[in-house]
Amino acid sequence: MERRSFLGIIAGSLFAVPRRAGAQHAGQSTRRMVILLSAFYLLAVMHAGPSAAQDWHSAQRARMVAEIASLARETSGATGRPTLSEAVMTAMGTVPRHRFVPAPLEVFAYKNQPLPIGEGQTISQPFLVALMTDLLDPKPGDTVLEVGTGSGYQAAVLASLVAKVYTIEILEPLARRATHLLEELGYRNVELRIGDGYNGWPEAAPFDSIVVTAAPADVPKQLVYQLKPGGRMVIPASGSSDWQYLLLVEKQSDGTVTMKRTLPVRFVPLKRDRSAK
Ligand code: SAH
Repeated sequence: MERRSFLGIIAGSLFAVPRRAGAQHAGQSTRRMVILLSAFYLLAVMHAGPSAAQDWHSAQRARMVAEIASLARETSGATGRPTLSEAVMTAMGTVPRHRFVPAPLEVFAYKNQPLPIGEGQTISQPFLVALMTDLLDPKPGDTVLEVGTGSGYQAAVLASLVAKVYTIEILEPLARRATHLLEELGYRNVELRIGDGYNGWPEAAPFDSIVVTAAPADVPKQLVYQLKPGGRMVIPASGSSDWQYLLLVEKQSDGTVTMKRTLPVRFVPLKRDRSAK
């Protein structure tokens, strides 16, 4: 998703000069004031102790879930999902997203926006994480593959919904950080591998579903091959150089494959490890 530096995010949110006067000016100033007050409030509650900070984060999560519900309604023409499943909404309301973003950006963790996580990569906006998870129709016994672990947030959301999550990250520093965090937070059903996920994870296949969180030029054939009959894959692809469609790929029980375009999105490119076999 969008690439923005930490300082850019903070400065942009707090100090950006409004482009127009009038109602918009008032709206932006109010928003900046709210963010500034939230930042001070977060500092104050952190100072007040762990349980106050916990309450603040769960209130922020509840607000985020309400925003996801309203965005789902607004985009249902393209997604076919006016409401997301209760299980997915519960996962979004439970996973501590603030732990998956760099500490200086914690105050923005529950806003519906992508955030930088280092190495030029981003954690996707919460609405997209919720939508992509919902489109997979996750079930408690499922085995799911994620390509592009990043912060580990999407893997954690999936891990609270299915039996087993396999996730692949090509950048070692992100993979190491995500491994430690997922372990610390107690997500024991996630297995992480460092490498190029373009060709999936053949030893763990077939999968009930696959989610790809970086954009390849085309839908990788190996990933479609590694889906079970009846399986689903959500992947950003087939747009132009700087945007994609979020595609829902379904493998029917007779093996035929259908693809449906949903929303236009903007993901970071899927890298290729040219030295890999
Ligand atoms: N799902 C992530 C979002 C990650 S952004 C989250 O919840 O935070 C996409 C990630 O895909 C980046 O971390 C990037 O390094 C990774 N990536 C890019 N190309 C890849 C590839 N070929 N295989 C595995 N990971 C890849």
